Amino acid sequence: MINQIEPFSHPILVTKPLLPDLQDLNRMLQEIWNSGWVTNGGVKHFKAGHDTKHYQLETKLQEYLKVPGFSLFNNGTTALMVGIKQYLLQGEVITTPFTFAATPHSLVWNNITPVFCDIDNTTLTIDPNEVEKLITEKTTGILGVHVFGMPCHVDSLMAIAKKYKLRVLFDAAHAFGTEIDGTGIGTYGDITMFSFHATKLFNTIEGGGLTYNSPEMKDEIELLKDFGIQSEEKVTSQGLNGKLNEIQAAIGLLNLEIIDDERKKRALIREIYTENLNKIKGINVFSVPNNVRDSYQYFVVRITKDFGFSRDKVYDFLRKYNIQTRKYFYPLCSDFDCYKDTSAVRNKYPVAEKAAKEVLCLPFHGQLQLDEVSKICNLIKEMKYVR
Ligand SMILES: *Cc1c(COP(=O)(O)O)cnc(C)c1O
Repeated sequence: MINQIEPFSHPILVTKPLLPDLQDLNRMLQEIWNSGWVTNGGVKHFKAGHDTKHYQLETKLQEYLKVPGFSLFNNGTTALMVGIKQYLLQGEVITTPFTFAATPHSLVWNNITPVFCDIDNTTLTIDPNEVEKLITEKTTGILGVHVFGMPCHVDSLMAIAKKYKLRVLFDAAHAFGTEIDGTGIGTYGDITMFSFHATKLFNTIEGGGLTYNSPEMKDEIELLKDFGIQSEEKVTSQGLNGKLNEIQAAIGLLNLEIIDDERKKRALIREIYTENLNKIKGINVFSVPNNVRDSYQYFVVRITKDFGFSRDKVYDFLRKYNIQTRKYFYPLCSDFDCYKDTSAVRNKYPVAEKAAKEVLCLPFHGQLQLDEVSKICNLIKEMKYVR
């Protein structure tokens, strides 16, 4: 069988940002213009009498994420940096190399040595058994990543943390709306970071959030995201500028109204992909267990040697057909120039290395047409035969 399949005439992108209706946004912008208040919208200013978009979004997201404490940030990285700062962590924090650069970098910006630890082959999240082996007298915390919306082994990690008196932090940049048996992912551990970057399902173009279980921590977190300025003449902590502005907050409010619709579209796309690709030997669809609410952040497959072509071959092949895919996460953070010859890398990561060579994120966003999804599946299926 030799088929001729035409490349797509337009590029099929791996993601497209969810954007609100422009007229709705204009209406909100008019409100912001009328108020003359464009940023500094945190709870402090709300209490001072400003009904800000920032405050509205913060309140709504706290509810959506089902968490006891929540603060908005101008991006996920500053949120994580502030979360680490809040606990005055130092020394070493054990984390995963199978993540985005921001995860270990946030530790380094707090003068902490990230110590990379191998991952679990099924969940692709940090392996609790390996974590325990890496604990030294300098260890102060564990920073796990809910990769592709797959929850870390939260209970095991929290049990280890309790035993060794460590803090548990989570990077939930991929896990917006993820729940385990109905419990918001942001309620596990001491703090959890979310990213609202344009590439994330819920976005404010740039933005982020920090969740915490002690609502009384909110004042301190809000101070840290606002230079530590408590009042006009009183500065109480060495904060940074982590504030989300009113325009970003407006986009967030509008995107929150359409997010469930986007989730439904992605659910359907996921179904078509899964149905078609699961039949192919060597293509394994990565999916969360039944008791976990899917974040629909990425559609990920692992391409094993049974498929007959390597992940890189599939990547190159699809590119020829105008289809963009992503090798998340390749290379591993432990292979970055800035980490590879440092004390962050203390052992080997055979599981993470294998995963990094096998994973591929396929195009996944609500504007993708169902026939486009079918064609992508067909191309993978027929890869042996098409030219
Ligand atoms: C996107 C992302 C971040 C960074 O978030 P920003 O909002 O862009 O700062 C951190 N970790 C992971 C795993 C991410 O995917």
